[in-house]
Amino acid sequence: MDGSQHPVDKSPIVSDKVDTTTCYMCACRCGIKVHLLDGKIRYIEGNPDHPVNKGVLCAKGSAGIMQHYSPARLSKPLRRIGERGSGEFKEIEWGEALDIATSWLASVRATDPKRLAFFTGRDQSQALTSWWAQQFGTPNYAAHGGFCSVNMATGGIYTFGSAFWEFSEPDWDNTKYFLMFGVAEDHDSNPIKMGLGKLKGRGAKYVSVNPVQTGYTAIADEWLGITPGTDGLFVMSLMHELLRAGKVDVDYLIRYTNAPYLVIENPGAADHGLFVRDEDGNELCWDRVRNMAVPFKDKTLKPEMKGTFELPDGKKARPVFELLAERYLDSQYNPDVVAYQTGIEADTIRRIAAELAEVAFEQEITIDQPWTDWRGEKHDKMIGRPVAMHAMRGISAHSNGFHTCRAIHLLQILLGSIDCPGGLRYKAPYPKGFNSLPKPTGQPGDINPNTPLPGPHLGFVQGPEDLLLDDNGDPMRIDKAFSWDAPMASHGMMHSVIPNAWKGDPYNIELLFMYMANMAWNSSMNTADTIDMLTDKDEETGEYKIPRIIYSDAFYSETVPYADLILPDTTYLERWDCMSTLDRPISDAEGVADAIRHPVVEPDRDVRPFQDVLIDLGSRLGLPGLIKEGGRKRYPGGYKDYIVNHERAPGIGSLAGFRGKDGIEKGKGEPNPNQLDEYIKNGCFWYDKIPEEASYFRHANKAYLEYAAGMGFIKDASPIIFNLYSEPQQKFKLAGQGHGDHVPPDEHKERIEKHFDPLPIWYEPFDQAVVDADEFPLHALTQRPAAMYHSWGSQNAWLRQIHGTNRLYIPASLAKRHDIQDEDWVYLSSRNGRIKVRAAVMTGVNSKTVWTWNAIGKRSGAWNLDEDSKEFTEGFLLNHLIDDSLPENQHGYKYSNSDPVTGQAAWFDVRVKIEKAPPEEQTTDAISEPHFDTLKPPPTLPDRPGVMGYVVKKGGAS
Ligand code: SF4
Repeated sequence: MDGSQHPVDKSPIVSDKVDTTTCYMCACRCGIKVHLLDGKIRYIEGNPDHPVNKGVLCAKGSAGIMQHYSPARLSKPLRRIGERGSGEFKEIEWGEALDIATSWLASVRATDPKRLAFFTGRDQSQALTSWWAQQFGTPNYAAHGGFCSVNMATGGIYTFGSAFWEFSEPDWDNTKYFLMFGVAEDHDSNPIKMGLGKLKGRGAKYVSVNPVQTGYTAIADEWLGITPGTDGLFVMSLMHELLRAGKVDVDYLIRYTNAPYLVIENPGAADHGLFVRDEDGNELCWDRVRNMAVPFKDKTLKPEMKGTFELPDGKKARPVFELLAERYLDSQYNPDVVAYQTGIEADTIRRIAAELAEVAFEQEITIDQPWTDWRGEKHDKMIGRPVAMHAMRGISAHSNGFHTCRAIHLLQILLGSIDCPGGLRYKAPYPKGFNSLPKPTGQPGDINPNTPLPGPHLGFVQGPEDLLLDDNGDPMRIDKAFSWDAPMASHGMMHSVIPNAWKGDPYNIELLFMYMANMAWNSSMNTADTIDMLTDKDEETGEYKIPRIIYSDAFYSETVPYADLILPDTTYLERWDCMSTLDRPISDAEGVADAIRHPVVEPDRDVRPFQDVLIDLGSRLGLPGLIKEGGRKRYPGGYKDYIVNHERAPGIGSLAGFRGKDGIEKGKGEPNPNQLDEYIKNGCFWYDKIPEEASYFRHANKAYLEYAAGMGFIKDASPIIFNLYSEPQQKFKLAGQGHGDHVPPDEHKERIEKHFDPLPIWYEPFDQAVVDADEFPLHALTQRPAAMYHSWGSQNAWLRQIHGTNRLYIPASLAKRHDIQDEDWVYLSSRNGRIKVRAAVMTGVNSKTVWTWNAIGKRSGAWNLDEDSKEFTEGFLLNHLIDDSLPENQHGYKYSNSDPVTGQAAWFDVRVKIEKAPPEEQTTDAISEPHFDTLKPPPTLPDRPGVMGYVVKKGGAS
């Protein structure tokens, strides 16, 4: 048929205005173009010029329109008038809401600022929220990293000054072998899809290590369906094979790592396992030519990599590399030994190790680009080992995740594949050495009434002396981050805040202030207990044990009914925002980038951007950074004003682009009043290409280090030496053994001694170890669907059509044993609870594992969904099965269910058993359990639409 007979307009004009801004439908922060017609949003597309997504838009991103027009949006400040959880609120004006919030905050600040716990969820303005909390003076601030992926961030920073995801990316154009561990689709969504597309197009091999074969794993060339929590064993076994075969990049280790450093051998003494240093503190290595210890930084060093050497004081010392080889050549890491536990056959482990070595050493890549290293040595080429890796929550959310993450980085480093052509590449402003990273603030002298904290809350401890402890050795923070419970909790422990505040352990708080964190539902372990804690009252006083709760959210989420004061937020299309290099960067490997959001539509409700509200509250409270002399507001224009004019250090502000009076400076420069206009003209982002000679080996590349120091990313141009061996870990181990001035109380000693180790270790995840594996033989996991981002996405009218409900996916072999068919109702039980859910049978899953999609199950009445919604009747959460604490130990103490090093929430450690529900329960009207009372909607939500549709015509959208 001639197409001209039925002409199709393939590109109809749908808008009268197009604005660029930044997506917030997941954490990737892609650039978008928002089409508007008569001031209403008509259509969203990817911005082809944007460095993050280069025009690619996912289902979530395009469905932003339905997020914006969601019937679940809050529309006015609310004050609770009934009991918590009743949903009984009265509407109040902003003036009253801000007066109430100010009076509650002011009384806490004037008496004991630590009685404020300020925690945010998937907040993309942490550079502001953390600074605000610092100005307030409470030590109790963090965002959601502690319950998400702090093991990845901390394991990476302590090893090579960077980490996966926002801090690095595979060299997608050059990698020949890509090994990915435990990644679901909502983290680094579009960039990974684009990268995998490149890999597949070039025929590079992609191996996915993941208990479940969904999402990205479905397109892998090889799937290794590993048993949850055993990735560390698998990686250590790969190292065993590489070391056994001598397939490690010794030259790389000598140049860039602490492999040659001498480690004191003095068992039982306080200096055992520490580095040998000269009187100036320089780490020493054994020079094989001079036959003496010389500083690592000595340009003529020819280090020994093995042997035992006697020091002038008579002590013995050995190089790190020998200790490392000794550790991983041990027979416990032999593939034959780890095969059963990991669920990966020994021959497969041997083959993967051989493939990694073959690609790294036989297929090296050479780029004709001269460069100079930090010692001044000139190189005429950049030589790369084209093996890249990536890992995320599947590794992170276990109580052994910190060491597993470090092990993955050690594997990369042994292969010489970090920041080389074809390897893992940094994203600016990373890498950073410890001299450019803060230590946590919040020691007893740091917290005083009406006084800011002297430094940032979160940071990287270097030894027990940096912990935040009171004079009795008890935690200074309500979440117990940076205490003996979790010494390296560098993102805080948001998942511990409500349980600890409820118990009054380590102390009572007065006010819980939260933003965008659905803690009464999918963001908490032990959901029902968390709800009880939020509503529990002191028997004597009749007051709530957590006396006051302020919450800001854009939507009627499950947490709203449990707050006392609600500050309704806007959607991401109605506000200013800033994706800052001071926060979580959006740079790529080629260049440094940051971005903004700006209001593309005005709110049609009585809501305010949370960031503006925070700045307003700060001014009302008289926080020093937010007022000028005479008490005048420092940022009368709100967050927009702050983004432009706030300086963290002289010349360094929220945005690195278009700085200086004329807007031509980058990185550092005085505030530019036209900066935001420049960003908008430029598509709402700024990008600076890093010079070619600084492209790779940035941890040691003189040109890059000088560039980064000039931009203010790092303190100076000194190199970042990779810590194969972590001395801070050894300092904690020594403290656990009773050495030093800062020693844990007896009840913590064994745990510290056992779980801190300068070289990565593997131990069985805690919640797996405390149950009888015969009684609870299965692992239970959640995965993130590509089409949704937490509970936000699963209330979205378009995205609900992709995943309207969830099932418990179970391996076919297990289904057969229990006579379970698709759609059967089953009971799943853990040591903490029992849920009733619908099953679906599949083959692409580890035979000891069941799983479901995360955060689709919802509480009836929330999100303004219809009362018969499948999310309420069939949807479910695994969270009910997961305890927020471990069982009481022999000292009568319950640790958080977290990694003992970082405090990372151990979501994926839970073990379960499955039973088919009896025949009388296999009915069409059965519903998932537990089922909670229906939440009452607040007065301001619109009537629930029977069918959610979207129609745009000239004259307006509806
Ligand atoms: S990947 Fe995330 S940020 Fe990018 S378009 Fe999709 S939802 Fe938006």
